[in-house]
Amino acid sequence: MKIKRNIPLIDQHDKNGFYGGKFGGNYVAETLKKPIDDLNKLFEKYRYDKKFLKERDFLYEDYVGKPTRLIKLRNLTDHLGGAQIYAKMVSDANGGAHKIYNAITHAMLCKRANKKYICTDTGAGYNGKMFSMVAKKFGLGCKIFMGTKDIKRQKPNCDAMKKNGAEIVPVDTGSKTLVDAVSECIRYWVSNCDKVHMGIGSLVGPNVFVKICGWSTTQISRELKIQLKDEFGDVPKRLKLINCVGGGSSAYGFWSEFIDYKKKDVELIGVEAGGRSKSKLHAAPLSKNSKIGVLHGAAAYCVQNSDGQINETESISSGLDYPSVSPIHCFLKDSGRARYTYATDEEALKAFELVTKLEEISPSLEPAHAFAEAIKIAPKFNSSTTLIVNSCGDSLKDRDIIKKHLGSYSR
Ligand SMILES: *Cc1c(COP(=O)(O)O)cnc(C)c1O
Repeated sequence: MKIKRNIPLIDQHDKNGFYGGKFGGNYVAETLKKPIDDLNKLFEKYRYDKKFLKERDFLYEDYVGKPTRLIKLRNLTDHLGGAQIYAKMVSDANGGAHKIYNAITHAMLCKRANKKYICTDTGAGYNGKMFSMVAKKFGLGCKIFMGTKDIKRQKPNCDAMKKNGAEIVPVDTGSKTLVDAVSECIRYWVSNCDKVHMGIGSLVGPNVFVKICGWSTTQISRELKIQLKDEFGDVPKRLKLINCVGGGSSAYGFWSEFIDYKKKDVELIGVEAGGRSKSKLHAAPLSKNSKIGVLHGAAAYCVQNSDGQINETESISSGLDYPSVSPIHCFLKDSGRARYTYATDEEALKAFELVTKLEEISPSLEPAHAFAEAIKIAPKFNSSTTLIVNSCGDSLKDRDIIKKHLGSYSR
């Protein structure tokens, strides 16, 4: 399995939407074939449209607040005594995470399709919050599908959605988390696609959703490349880009401009959710070698039992609590370009504690998984190695969970 150079990874699929011949595709009901086809035509038209791009760039700058900072974590670097550690503060983005980029593109496409309603799924609540923000900004009606377990554990983001006038549709089926929310949202779209635009909150789903999302989050690495030139004069040698992986949209956005670099120069490290160390459950299909399965319209490595049924997952971070993963990351894994590992709940909490004790940043539990890996590997190198962690979310949404596990929370 080989990655081509000079072509965005999202476009390296065959005519049926498969990456590397077997990941992704469009496993959808007959009734969704046409709406998906229409959406694909719409996106392919506007992604090269000068006016569309101008509006997008304006929104990324004026509304998201471009660029998010690249900062050196001097105290953490000194404490670990190895590689230099930086953080790309994607949590600076309006709304507090990277999901705003994808939400903006979807709202713009919704407008171009002359639709007045938008719907999406959410796990950590960030995607729901961002869609509710852009819906308000663009004057769109907005429905958010969310598992009842997540509604309970991500209250601050739910409050934001309501404040923005979005309707939260509670999903009480299956595991009552993101996986069920996505299924329910797709089901709703099947019967309402003539009036409603659907967005998916990560680099997953039928091919067109993977492409729209990846096209949007690439903004992160476009900014990073410029920031590296300012800080180091060029992209430094022995660079490692560490990102947590749920569906994989922040990781793709953080890496996409660096995929053509040699692995020994720029290593890409994805960190999945290992769940509690005492439990067998996890949400780490890549690093725990799950088999290929089909979920939400795409084939990908997927946590499943021996009958091929989707298995329950578990993670302290609802943003990573998803049994499957993007076909793009399956492709990156099998081609050998990226390396995937996991951090347990306990390691993520410890990383959160250490980072917030030493530095004036407060990553959410998703990027805390990426920090856990950075903390693990930094001492193995010297200062000629540079680690950059994508701090893709802010901890405020996790305050209740953190308080419960660590006894207190302050931001
Ligand atoms: C949604 C979310 C994730 C996981 O999704 P990806 O598509 O893997 O990025 C990670 N971090 C935060 C803060 C999120 O909101």
